[in-house]
Amino acid sequence: MDDSLNFDTLAVRSGTLRSEFGEHSEALFLTSSFVFASAAEAADRFTSSGDYYTYSRFTNPTVTMFQERLAALEGGEACIATASGMAAIMSVVMSALKAGDHLVSSRSLFGSTLGMFSQIFSKFGINTTFVDPTNPDAWKKAVRPETKMFFLETPSNPLTEIADIEAIGAIAHSVNALFVVDNCFCSPALQQPLKLGADIVMHSATKFLDGQGRVLGGALVGSKQFITEKLFPFVRSAGPTLSAFNAWVLLKGMETLSVRIERQSANALEIARWLESDPAVKRVFYPGLQSHPQYEIAKRQQKAGGAIVSFELNGDTPEQMRANAWRVIDSTKICSITGNLGDTRTTITHPATTTHARITPEARADAGITEGLVRLAVGLESATDIRDDIARGLTP
Ligand SMILES: *Cc1c(COP(=O)(O)O)cnc(C)c1O
Repeated sequence: MDDSLNFDTLAVRSGTLRSEFGEHSEALFLTSSFVFASAAEAADRFTSSGDYYTYSRFTNPTVTMFQERLAALEGGEACIATASGMAAIMSVVMSALKAGDHLVSSRSLFGSTLGMFSQIFSKFGINTTFVDPTNPDAWKKAVRPETKMFFLETPSNPLTEIADIEAIGAIAHSVNALFVVDNCFCSPALQQPLKLGADIVMHSATKFLDGQGRVLGGALVGSKQFITEKLFPFVRSAGPTLSAFNAWVLLKGMETLSVRIERQSANALEIARWLESDPAVKRVFYPGLQSHPQYEIAKRQQKAGGAIVSFELNGDTPEQMRANAWRVIDSTKICSITGNLGDTRTTITHPATTTHARITPEARADAGITEGLVRLAVGLESATDIRDDIARGLTP
């Protein structure tokens, strides 16, 4: 499909493959392997590098459709799908780095990503230096002769810090490091990191791409050369492959991506403004608020503020702050108490004791995640109803 078409057209139509039956909606190819007309054809297809289907750990037509659609939306040449966002991170690190290589990463990361970098990859001789994502100088200073990758998440989870993709990308390229950006929080509907200098965009498709909290999925988008020469050989052998069923669910999710995230961002902005005016709330973290420290970068880099709003409750001691945060969460009747985000249903979480509970207290303090912090991932319900739901527990 013509990739110069507008985003909303690509989201609905790009990547569609049609079988001999002429189905209108994307078909779900639930098959582990593919048959051949003869032994000679099998031999040919197993050894050729052509786009043949042999086995679904390698390729599957429903997964291909998902990959092509996401590549089109991110403005990338190629994409490889994985079973989850974490499988995507594992795949890009295992494909691009080797023992002795060094990684520079934002210190404000999704909890499992932080765990992979600090505890798993280090076992294989790949060490990471964590830096303040909002300070380009810190990235520059962390570079060593063996630095091979920069990893960034923007906006960050859960504090929505915004890093300047263009500035950090320029530093990465000046030292020939591969620049990977986790675009989970914005999705390509709000932000396209490849156009700002990222080499690879990573996704947890579990979040906004599905958008309805149903399946796990992940993906990496980048140059055709990197995807086919580095990533594909790893994924087809190691097997962190996306299932056809999940790809099919994600394809339908992507069709409504921009409509959902624009509306969710509008709801989030309304709730963030209201929270900022409430005396029970100490601070609100939302890139669409003028009080956000990187408001100007967000305005330049993102189409809207996104659906994630975090806020900190008052309290004289950590115990009091936790009690206030838990009261807000426990008083809700609409919001779902769950760690997932990017759903049409608003979710509410206490990061310090859930998503970020397993990291050390020092790392948590370093990331600015206090006992009073509550994270909202705003959905498609009426913003008024969500406000009322949160207001119930704001004061004792
Ligand atoms: C959820 C998430 C991940 C991990 O994705 P999974 O699909 O759960 O493996 C990575 N990065 C960010 C920012 C996330 O929110």
